[in-house]
Amino acid sequence: MEPSIRIPSAPPSHVRVPPELEGLRRLAYNLYWTWHPRARAIFARIDGVAWARHHSPIPILTAGVDWAPLLDNPDFVAEAKRVIADFDHYMANGADHWFHRKHARHFDGPIAYFCAEYGLHERLGIYSGGLGVLAGDHMKSASDMALPFIGVGLFYRKGFFRQTIDADGHQEHRYPDYDPHRLPLTRVLGREGEPLSVSVELPGRDVRVDVWAVHVGRVPVLLLDTDTPTNDPADRPITHILYVRGREMRLHQELILGVGGVRALRALGLRPAVWHLNEGHSAFLLAERARELVAAGAELDDALTQVSRNSVFTIHTPVSAGNERFDAGLVRAIAGPLLDGDGRPGTGGVPVERLLEIGRGTDGDAGQFDMTAFSLRLTNGANAVSRLHAETANTTWSGTAPHEILAITNGVHTPTWLGGPIRELYEKYLDADLDDLDASTAATRWWDRLDRIPAAELWGAHLRQKSELALFARGRLRSQFARHGEPPRELRELERVLDPDVLTIGFARRFATYKRAGMIFTDPERLARLVNDPDRPVQIVFAGKAHPADRPGQAVIQEIFTRSRSRELHDRLFILEDYDMRVARFLVQGVDVWLNNPRRPLEASGTSGMKAARNGIVNVSVLDGWWDEGWTGDNGWAIGDRETIPDEAAQDWADAMDLYRILEDEVVPQYYERDRRGLPQAWLERMRRSMATTLWTFSTSRMLHEYTERLYLPAAGIAVGENLEAANR
Ligand SMILES: *Cc1c(COP(=O)(O)O)cnc(C)c1O
Repeated sequence: MEPSIRIPSAPPSHVRVPPELEGLRRLAYNLYWTWHPRARAIFARIDGVAWARHHSPIPILTAGVDWAPLLDNPDFVAEAKRVIADFDHYMANGADHWFHRKHARHFDGPIAYFCAEYGLHERLGIYSGGLGVLAGDHMKSASDMALPFIGVGLFYRKGFFRQTIDADGHQEHRYPDYDPHRLPLTRVLGREGEPLSVSVELPGRDVRVDVWAVHVGRVPVLLLDTDTPTNDPADRPITHILYVRGREMRLHQELILGVGGVRALRALGLRPAVWHLNEGHSAFLLAERARELVAAGAELDDALTQVSRNSVFTIHTPVSAGNERFDAGLVRAIAGPLLDGDGRPGTGGVPVERLLEIGRGTDGDAGQFDMTAFSLRLTNGANAVSRLHAETANTTWSGTAPHEILAITNGVHTPTWLGGPIRELYEKYLDADLDDLDASTAATRWWDRLDRIPAAELWGAHLRQKSELALFARGRLRSQFARHGEPPRELRELERVLDPDVLTIGFARRFATYKRAGMIFTDPERLARLVNDPDRPVQIVFAGKAHPADRPGQAVIQEIFTRSRSRELHDRLFILEDYDMRVARFLVQGVDVWLNNPRRPLEASGTSGMKAARNGIVNVSVLDGWWDEGWTGDNGWAIGDRETIPDEAAQDWADAMDLYRILEDEVVPQYYERDRRGLPQAWLERMRRSMATTLWTFSTSRMLHEYTERLYLPAAGIAVGENLEAANR
């Protein structure tokens, strides 16, 4: 199989570039620029103001650039040509990549990856959080490793909500309205060169599904869209909103994703070697593929066996309550006709009653269709996203999963999450090739030699990243407080907040109550003493959204906001609005300590701490998710231990007391202990350990090695030779 799947797509005519820099158009429409700083720098040079505003090349190139002075600048032209040449080289040379030669070339079709959300870049708001960002990082690493990959998802024109917080601390929601022509999307073309659409039969009508593509390096991701003029106005919003609340609408969405996704791949003539369901939202793809086989004459049981043989599933939630379920009656009514061919003999369908039986949940309730149970029973391999999560998942699903659920711990795509100053040090002192983490793993293992980075430079780079966060956060806070009507005097004061010399703790994630964001407020007086110490002060930055339906989560936001405006914590505690990938980047690059205190074992993995660690930020976390296996004793701190007290309130109290102890007795003294040159040597050593123990182990590169060797190759029926010698091939 070729390392990249070519998808015919319409060249955007509204983007104009001079002929000698034609490659900039290719580059603008490939998210390659999101993880290649020099590519971003070229667009910033074309129009710095527009870049600062949009951080995306499309609005710059569509706005009418004055090219003459740029083309007169030989330095600019040479750099632009070099960036384009690097990009073209990257795209053309997948077949030479060692991982491709070792594994990827054996597949006789692409690996089709289905996910309800993709976090690729903040400008493409089709993600809500961890699941999407993981999927996005998975695509980027698949591209870097030249795996033949194609993603399938939905184009949410209203995406996920944007958050503001009002002067009383209430979360306000606003749904954007994305114009595909201002996004790095291209329309996929069919065999005759016409814009490709497929159709999905829903009760009483055919819903048309348009197909867009976003190119992630070598990997195309197809995005399905029902908002097209020929559809009934009532069907156009099916794909508008991510995780739409209404159950019936959600079921429509998931049918479009699963069924429409299979049909889009077929329309492009693709025959995937492996089908990967990342979480159960796309599970109807299994039903659709069984229907295809039965329609072609297969016996139902054979069809189901055949479908499961090359399908794999990743589970993301630790408890069964967190899994997607639909009322069986709803599934019968909405999906029944589509799948069982109206029940008419000879229409070759899959009886919906059989599907409902396969999708019965752990409680055996025949009135519910459980997408996770359905996916587990109809796939040939499944994984959880950390070791601890695999333990819980195997217990929860013991009667359901036909195989053991493997542990393949999540990772992050290093070049996406590294700050510029730290990245430069890796390149300068360790010869790291961040465009290809894998190519550099073998001989070099550069993360084992972090002591080659001089202490003063490491500290300097870290402080620069902290300053970048401070600048960004002050701007955000200024617009937030201006909206609240604070006077200029107050707004001016913000210029002094978030001093990079002060120990800074970051906490950013979805505000679900099990994440216990308010834990640090358990003893408000103790917290006030900690943060206001005149010699060794501490400041805390929060960010995160609560689902619009999650009232308790919104109450947590309000509590944090109210406390941030209190006299005791004034100027020591902040909450930034509208947590997205951009806010996440500033935070995971620019604080000192990354705090995570969920109620164990409810955090399946978590990935933000991995992003922070590769920037030298030190994790202080409950031993849950990835940290349960990532903590080494010297690379950060563990809150509590591995025992769980049955009484929740007692557990919360014990964890809070341990958090205060760690901060007061260990973090603060170590951070502020300086040598003669003003360097915190012990802290720097912890930073190095934080980086060294995570750079490879919690990367998507390591993760994709495992997915390939433990799930994809077996599902494709390819014998695996040497196993998992990834790190020392
Ligand atoms: C990484 C990331 C997440 C997931 O982080 P967790 O540690 O799982 O909470 C969520 N949202 C955004 C915007 C991210 O970048």
